[in-house]
Amino acid sequence: MFDSLSNRLQDVFANLGREVRLTPETVEIALREIRMALLEADVNFKVVKAFVDKVRDRAVDAEVLKSLSPGQQVVRIVRDEMLALFGDTQGGLPPVSATPRVILMLGLQGSGKTTTTGKLAKWLVKQGKHPIVVSTDVRRPAAIEQLNLVAKQAGVRAHDPAGNLDPVSRASGAMQEARTLGYDTIIVDTAGRLHIDDELMVELEAIKAAVQPTDQLYVADAMTGQDAIKSAGEFNRRVGVTGVVLSKMDGDARGGAALSVVSVVGVPIAFTGSGERLEDLEAFHPDRVVSRVLG
Ligand code: GDP
Repeated sequence: MFDSLSNRLQDVFANLGREVRLTPETVEIALREIRMALLEADVNFKVVKAFVDKVRDRAVDAEVLKSLSPGQQVVRIVRDEMLALFGDTQGGLPPVSATPRVILMLGLQGSGKTTTTGKLAKWLVKQGKHPIVVSTDVRRPAAIEQLNLVAKQAGVRAHDPAGNLDPVSRASGAMQEARTLGYDTIIVDTAGRLHIDDELMVELEAIKAAVQPTDQLYVADAMTGQDAIKSAGEFNRRVGVTGVVLSKMDGDARGGAALSVVSVVGVPIAFTGSGERLEDLEAFHPDRVVSRVLG
């Protein structure tokens, strides 16, 4: 991920660094290269345009162009603006006063929702929390089994009342159990679809109304690039999204989704997933990603 973008941008920066004097024209040549590199990395075209315009506004400035190392100044501006793309976020989950904390997991089928539910449970245990998980994916019995298995691997309890195939009552039951037995966090895994459909949205709205989640995490498969972002926007409009988990960052995704998600959907990246193991979840740190892209 980001390898190709990173190589391209570093070439641009090396060329800029060699210029003793920068002119609006040389800046424009570099901006054109940056624009191409971002588009080829599958960054949303509106995001690319706004990004390049902002860098241009700041770079084509007499002070910058006349400075001792104008190339480095432009590189710094690119770095600042790339950080700004990720919004003001520290990654992970924001502190809440509500107990129990209720986290609703949202996403398309195959995006990595169930795996991420297990990863998040494990992450929470490491933070000293006591999570309980529940699957509301009643259409695919295998989904409930999968979550039970993942919960076992993570060493957490899965709420799974035998024979209860009502998504809302399963989620409410988990709330009840958490309150009775003293769990402080409930992670509600939900059904996904290959494509968004109204029936699913109605179901998610009903679960949301029943459990009043504190967090609504949308799991986006980084490999699906712009499509993942489009669906995130749809989920945000219908159900609401408070944070995004970008899964499958270990694949050969070009990285555009990660760089576009905040501008397009308006919510920060909370976590990234980079493998199938339960350990492969990290709170998102924009500065680390920017360093990876820009060197
Ligand atoms: P769900 O349908 O959204 O619940 O998706 P699953 O959790 O069942 O994941 C679908 C597939 O993606 C499974 O084979 C997972 O092992 C795999 N997967 C999930 N997260 C990651 C990740 O971060 N990296 C990789 N390489 N595979 C992942």
